[in-house]
Amino acid sequence: MRVHFHGAAGEVTGSLHEVEAAGRRVLLDCGMIQGSPEAERRNAEVFSFEPAALDALVISHAHIDHIGRVPLLVRRGFRAPIYAQQATADLMPIMLMDAASISEGDAERHNRYRRAGEPEAQPLFTREDVTAAMELVRPLPYDTRATILPGVDIAFREAGHILGSSSVELWADERKLVFSGDLGPKGTPILRDPADIDRADLVLMESTYGDRLHRDRAETIRELGDILDTAWRDGGNVLIPAFAVGRSQELLYWFARHWDEWQLSRWHIFLDSPMAAKVVSIYDRHADLFDEDAQRVWREKPNPFRLPNLHFTQSREESMAINRIERGAIVIAGSGMANAGRILHHFRHRLDRRQTHVVFVGYQAEGTLGRRLVDGAKWVRIHGRDVRVNAQRHTVGGLSAHTDQRGLMAWYGAIAGGDGTRHPPLALVHGEDRAREALAGEIGDTYGVQATLARPGVVLDV
Ligand SMILES: [Zn+2]
Repeated sequence: MRVHFHGAAGEVTGSLHEVEAAGRRVLLDCGMIQGSPEAERRNAEVFSFEPAALDALVISHAHIDHIGRVPLLVRRGFRAPIYAQQATADLMPIMLMDAASISEGDAERHNRYRRAGEPEAQPLFTREDVTAAMELVRPLPYDTRATILPGVDIAFREAGHILGSSSVELWADERKLVFSGDLGPKGTPILRDPADIDRADLVLMESTYGDRLHRDRAETIRELGDILDTAWRDGGNVLIPAFAVGRSQELLYWFARHWDEWQLSRWHIFLDSPMAAKVVSIYDRHADLFDEDAQRVWREKPNPFRLPNLHFTQSREESMAINRIERGAIVIAGSGMANAGRILHHFRHRLDRRQTHVVFVGYQAEGTLGRRLVDGAKWVRIHGRDVRVNAQRHTVGGLSAHTDQRGLMAWYGAIAGGDGTRHPPLALVHGEDRAREALAGEIGDTYGVQATLARPGVVLDV
């Protein structure tokens, strides 16, 4: 068995690994590179392998940095089956259609204002490409070993990161490879904890927070309750930029769980994201994947997705109408880093008021509006207009969807080596160098294993 690293090998996006085994080629993930415009231009480059020569694609989860180049792969000749856990298979078209619409819109805008002689912009992929790709998807349940090619078996195991997120076990050539996918922290709301994997001959593990320890979650949740309380006393609105998958549903879950304690019945709560609303319906369909705590909340508390004062806003007009509410509204809207989406018009109307509370519940990348606000900007530019920022800003830091150094160490430490060795060889993917060097150091000290830092072009034999 041989592994080639093509993407998310020295960075956190663009997940793309290739396994050569049993005379076949299997791709693990085909994600989009995300970040600066220069970084994102790399998505359009030719693949470093022949898409038509692949025999299968296995998807770890529905985040765009793990699936975002699938339609492009298909457009360039890939015709083999795409395997994904059932909930992942349901989330994929929502995520990919959204990405296609954004890409088509960007290209159209560019071409409308293009100067004479400038080349015409093409979308990275279109909605038709997404439809073609989705026809190849074959859903599989968790914990079920399936033969996907002669001599190649796989199984999806819970990764506790987002709904449907999986670690992948792959057997071929009498060897077993384990790909972590993205691993969530233990106790992630709604989801079960990452499954324990018994053994492996080679492990590919993510390392996003390989150099960090997360804050205590209970403390974070208390903080969120306190912020809502202060905001109510101030007589303003609460604006929460959040990603459509995961964080939006998680917030509703916390609201249901602390319904009485936080006196939430006095608020109007808006999930102002048609995409997040679609994702809610996928959660409903896969309630069997929820953990015990969630099952209890669904039994004993108001249904998080049917809170009596929860409004799903669909049309643009409905979304704009929220701006007329002076006080008592909690608005959850995308995008999570406030670089696009409906949160922008809420910001434009409300950031100048001292009574407004903005709550950041996720990572804010360099160069985004969210980051500028977190860093204390007094003025920001939104939709071509300068907006004075008087709103109170809060960063609630403990809600990460990725586990920390301790969690990564524990997950890897529980896997036995295939040939009777205590720990299997390890390659670290999906992390920046600072994070994975720190993690590799800890793993060397604790387990005596020298981890490989995967880079594009690196090949590992096992
Ligand atoms: Zn992810």
